[in-house]
Amino acid sequence: MKKSEIEVMNRSFGILTERRSHILNDERTLELKDKVKEIRQYSISNLDELMDIGIKKLQKNGMEVILAETSKNALEAIYDIVKDESMVAKSKSNTAGEIRLSEFLENNGVEVLETDLGDRIVQFGPENRSSHPTAPASHLNVKKISEIVSDEFNQDVKPEPRAILNIVKSDILDKLSKCKVGITGANSVAAEDGSIITVHNEGNISLVSMLDTHIVIVGIDKFVKTIEEAVSIVKLETIYATGQTTPAYMNVISGPSQTADIEKVLLKDMYGAKRVVVILLDNGRSRAIDEGGECLLCIGCGSCIVSCPIYNAVGYDFGYRRYLGGRGVVFSRFVEDQKSCFDSGLFTCTLCGLCTLECPVGIKTNQLIEKLRKESVESDIFCEEHSKIAHKIQKKGSPF
Ligand code: SF4
Repeated sequence: MKKSEIEVMNRSFGILTERRSHILNDERTLELKDKVKEIRQYSISNLDELMDIGIKKLQKNGMEVILAETSKNALEAIYDIVKDESMVAKSKSNTAGEIRLSEFLENNGVEVLETDLGDRIVQFGPENRSSHPTAPASHLNVKKISEIVSDEFNQDVKPEPRAILNIVKSDILDKLSKCKVGITGANSVAAEDGSIITVHNEGNISLVSMLDTHIVIVGIDKFVKTIEEAVSIVKLETIYATGQTTPAYMNVISGPSQTADIEKVLLKDMYGAKRVVVILLDNGRSRAIDEGGECLLCIGCGSCIVSCPIYNAVGYDFGYRRYLGGRGVVFSRFVEDQKSCFDSGLFTCTLCGLCTLECPVGIKTNQLIEKLRKESVESDIFCEEHSKIAHKIQKKGSPF
């Protein structure tokens, strides 16, 4: 990330830290933290059972469920549904970013319309990289954004947030009206209710999920027992990610659109999606669970990167795809391999532990990184500089 972008991102993070400072130690937030920690721990420890109940219930509610063991399986399943479309609409999704869904579809002739404002701006830019899970354009200032948008639309767009919003929104709405397939992620899947829970402030997920076919791509780790549990997670994530106590929108999707308003005869295809397909992605999560599963407790609030001194110095180069910072580095070990974990910044971390202190569910990312470093060195994957220092210590008893 460029120095100027890092400065903008640090300013954005400072504003966020200030905005939520009064609420993090509120008694209700502290209670919610304990509750969510328990919910996430139960989910990860009982995932097989929750999946079993959840899949049956999702299907009973009229949704199609596809289990994708790898990212390749998920990409193939999605492509099979969208192959005849020229464009699909999409909302923000870390899981879609994990499997590089947009790149894959674009390379196969299907244009992807990002509908989140920040994501759309990032999509127009040269790097197409997001700097925060819920605020993807945190590293771009209004002047830079106006240049990116002016280039895209081939007209002068003033460096004013409202002017930028208006032109991007109207273009998105125009294109969205021609899309038949919408792709979203999900914050949680409520197993006992057979429901998908999504959260957003812009209202875009509501629009995307109302297209003829709604594809949900979600990691298997997102199963919880009930809608009530999912709401608790969403509330905590919102507090930590934005400083608000509730998001503008929380959607509960429990099947395709239907009505029984005429003589109780059940008719499908009213206003919403005719078809809802849920792709449950494993992609290394089962492996992560076999090794304790701690990194899967994450609720995606982005707090750890806001406090991380390395992320604040180098930005999105520290982390793995949409999973930013140390937690992303740890996750990459399970999604890919030790080499990818090394490349994501395994040895960049200072092990200061600020991420652990800030994490609402208490993921000890610094300790996980230390453990992975040991494994990495034992597999002969380490920094050349470190071996020089080790050599000096062996030879002279000092690293200097
Ligand atoms: S690891 Fe913790 S702090 Fe970081 S995004 Fe996940 S829940 Fe939030």
